[in-house]
Amino acid sequence: MQVRTDQLQLLFHQSSLATFGSVGGALALSWLQLDLGNHSVIAPWLITLCLAGTIRMVMFWAYSRSAPDHRTPARWEGVYWLTLVFMAGTWGIGALLLMSSDNLLSQVITLFFAVGMAGSAISAYSAYRYMPLVAVGLVLLPTTLWLLTESGNEQRLLALTTLTFSAFVVRATRELSGALQSLLRLRRELEIEHRIASTAARTDELTGLNNLRAFKEQADTLFTYTRRYGVPLCALLLDIDHFKQINDTHGHAAGDKVLQAVVRRIKTTLREADLCGRLGGEEFGVLLAGTDMYEAVQIAEKLRLAVQAIEVPLNDTMVHVTISVGVAEAGSACSDTSTLLAQADAAMYHAKSNGRNQVYSSAALETQTMACH
Ligand code: GH3
Ligand code: MG
Ligand code: MG
Repeated sequence: MQVRTDQLQLLFHQSSLATFGSVGGALALSWLQLDLGNHSVIAPWLITLCLAGTIRMVMFWAYSRSAPDHRTPARWEGVYWLTLVFMAGTWGIGALLLMSSDNLLSQVITLFFAVGMAGSAISAYSAYRYMPLVAVGLVLLPTTLWLLTESGNEQRLLALTTLTFSAFVVRATRELSGALQSLLRLRRELEIEHRIASTAARTDELTGLNNLRAFKEQADTLFTYTRRYGVPLCALLLDIDHFKQINDTHGHAAGDKVLQAVVRRIKTTLREADLCGRLGGEEFGVLLAGTDMYEAVQIAEKLRLAVQAIEVPLNDTMVHVTISVGVAEAGSACSDTSTLLAQADAAMYHAKSNGRNQVYSSAALETQTMACH
């Protein structure tokens, strides 16, 4: 469907000027036929062509003004086909009526212009396989078939030459539109591959969280944003307690299951806008924008209780895990995310040394340090 939408876009892009060429060609042909052909046909032919051209221009204008998600093949292909058939049909039938039935020069000139129109249709409509064929058929066939039914050898020769040219057109069109379609498909495939690869490069495979690189990038953006707008920003550093024991007792695969269960719980407990990432091993970082220290400690406590409530069934036993959390707020002295995370890390280590399964804030750490002094 995406490739078809690209095809449609290319069609509109390539054929936007074809309408002017078509009307211009008809004007030039009419001028040349003034003394040779049926000049009574000229006015109605040109008026009908201008009407068809105007309808096409309105369609091009409407397409260019429509929202990108409204530029779908279902909406535009049908109407495009109708305007194309109207325009090319008017051109082909008008040229036949304009051409003199007993003047070879008039016939040669008409055919020369019709072949020119057909040639330009190949490039204008090549995004679609059958459009150039239909356009060429409608423009060329009326005069060619008429010439073929005439008894003169010159007329038959002209008709046969035009039919030979048409056969080449069919072949060229098939190859050109086939190549264009492959190109469009390839471009879409490359885009998808690129999206998959860049998502994979930023995602932790085991948990689906942001990996360290992606977390740090987004954290830096969040830090700059909150600084600029004077919004509070807090960081949480979470570390699973005695995780090594789980690995040692139940095996590494069981440890992975526990990690996944913990991350699932963290995700469901946090808000959509909170930034979360796996910083390594059994350690996770969370950035809370628009959250002050008081609220951040409450959120950390909520996370701690949520993780404590997890039960992971492993080897006929229910395994429980706990986390230690360090909380830090980006104060005016904090210059970047690394400093903020280092403060949260120091608080987390304090929570560990204090007995684990608890939340500790950098503010509490500072108060304690000041009291010691
Ligand atoms: P503490 O309470 O002090 O944090 O103790 P701990 O055992 O959790 O910490 P330690 O740093 O001693 O051990 C962390 C363990 O996490 C060691 C490592 O094998 C394990 N680990 C790291 N990444 C993975 C992983 O992707 N899967 C599994 N199953 N284990 C992992
Ligand atoms: Mg640990
Ligand atoms: Mg650790």
